[in-house]
Amino acid sequence: MKDYQSMNPYNGEILENYTLDSSSAIHNKLQKALKIEASWSTLEIEVRCQLLTKVAELLIDRKEEYATLMTKEMGKPISQGIAEIEKCAWVCDFYALNAEDLLADEIIDTDADESFISHDPLGCVLAVMPWNYPFWQVLRFAAPTLTAGNTAILKHAKNVTGCSMAIEQLFLDAGYPEGCFQHIKAGHEEIEKLIADDGIKAVTLTGSEKAGKSIAATAGSNLKKSVLELGGNNACIVWEDADLDQYISTIATARMQNTGQSCIAAKRFIVCADIYDAFLEKFTNQVTSFKVGDPIKEDTFIGVMAQEDLAEELQKQVQDSIDLGAKVILGNERNGAYYSPTILTNVTEDMPVFKEETFGPVAAIIKVENREEAIKVATNSRFGLGSMLFTQDVDNAMNMISDIPDGAFFINDMVKSDPRLPFGGTKASGYGRELSREGILEFVNKKTVYIK
Ligand code: NAP
Repeated sequence: MKDYQSMNPYNGEILENYTLDSSSAIHNKLQKALKIEASWSTLEIEVRCQLLTKVAELLIDRKEEYATLMTKEMGKPISQGIAEIEKCAWVCDFYALNAEDLLADEIIDTDADESFISHDPLGCVLAVMPWNYPFWQVLRFAAPTLTAGNTAILKHAKNVTGCSMAIEQLFLDAGYPEGCFQHIKAGHEEIEKLIADDGIKAVTLTGSEKAGKSIAATAGSNLKKSVLELGGNNACIVWEDADLDQYISTIATARMQNTGQSCIAAKRFIVCADIYDAFLEKFTNQVTSFKVGDPIKEDTFIGVMAQEDLAEELQKQVQDSIDLGAKVILGNERNGAYYSPTILTNVTEDMPVFKEETFGPVAAIIKVENREEAIKVATNSRFGLGSMLFTQDVDNAMNMISDIPDGAFFINDMVKSDPRLPFGGTKASGYGRELSREGILEFVNKKTVYIK
């Protein structure tokens, strides 16, 4: 009997039927991971880095195959899928080159003859991942975590099970020992059991706030470390002196890339009154210029959403906001999983499109009187993933750094992830950091060593 199926959201084609792994199959996979824990964690770091370089090479060799798989399973426009795989190769190359330095003992002068922090792996880490960047979310966790000497078990979102299997095979093909990186097909109850198992040392989730609360509660009650990368409702602040001609394409892309299904997308556009009319005109023109269509075609920029129910949910958030007075400038048309790029004005702070995360191609535009009000409105959010500010007055923008209570603040660019910089949120966007030095040190025992 099959438990679930994957479907191409663009044309409704059923791709595959899947059976969930049984409890005993999941248990056996965990045992496999535990069996190789000692040999993997004591392998020279150079060897682990060489394996990671091989992963990067395979990703580049297979980028079209993997991008096509993402397009079929969750509707990602193929050119953005290829860019995603290239970025995965980048994060692998980054850690292959830097992991040894990042994990080196950190000498600290004290009254001891010698004292330092050593970085030992924790063991098997469970990763629960979402469908929106099916390869990137996994690789940005796995590249540092495995290279630090941990093993990993991946539970991916059901609709991207093909990607999940492909990633497991990728690590095997690169030469990782069996049991080092494994995927499971599991329901939520199995995840709960797995987190409680002594063999799992920590858990990381990238996903919704709801999933975060549930997984963090289970991890907490079992005294396991957790990292949570959750939703976002990023503000894009446009001060009256912003250079729209230079940045309007960046600003619109910040909302519409990945068909709006990105945690760090700009979702609330908070625009000073003096530039509002010009902004609205240029922004609408830019959004209208994006090519909409079949995600498998190379020139498509906006495709379908990953599932029809997600498009329905988005439409409801928009409708509820319209009922409260929002005005539709563009879009708000749905056909199955397709939801047309939508621009709403007259948005106020009580509306769903302001208060909640909109996970699709909807831009909520809020007009404010001045810079101070813009910052005040921007920071009125339960989420804290990132904010962006466009202005030519960079000195004054820098004075705002401590006023932005988010995990990231970008001036004159969209919030984006970069292997060299930490990534993560505050408030309902979660806790912990991925990427950079911070990311590789999330799943290690920072051990104090003191020698006299
Ligand atoms: P989701 O519904 O929370 O699912 C994410 C993963 O968690 C899936 O594998 C899902 O499995 C699993 N899951 C959900 N509830 C669970 C539970 N109670 N116990 C165990 N596993 C559980 O999120 P999504 O709809 O896939 O992804 C969209 C969300 O992710 C958005 O809120 C987005 O902002 C956020 N996100 C955050 C980041 C970041 O870096 N901060 C990046 C990307 C996405 P099933 O598929 O089996 O339900």
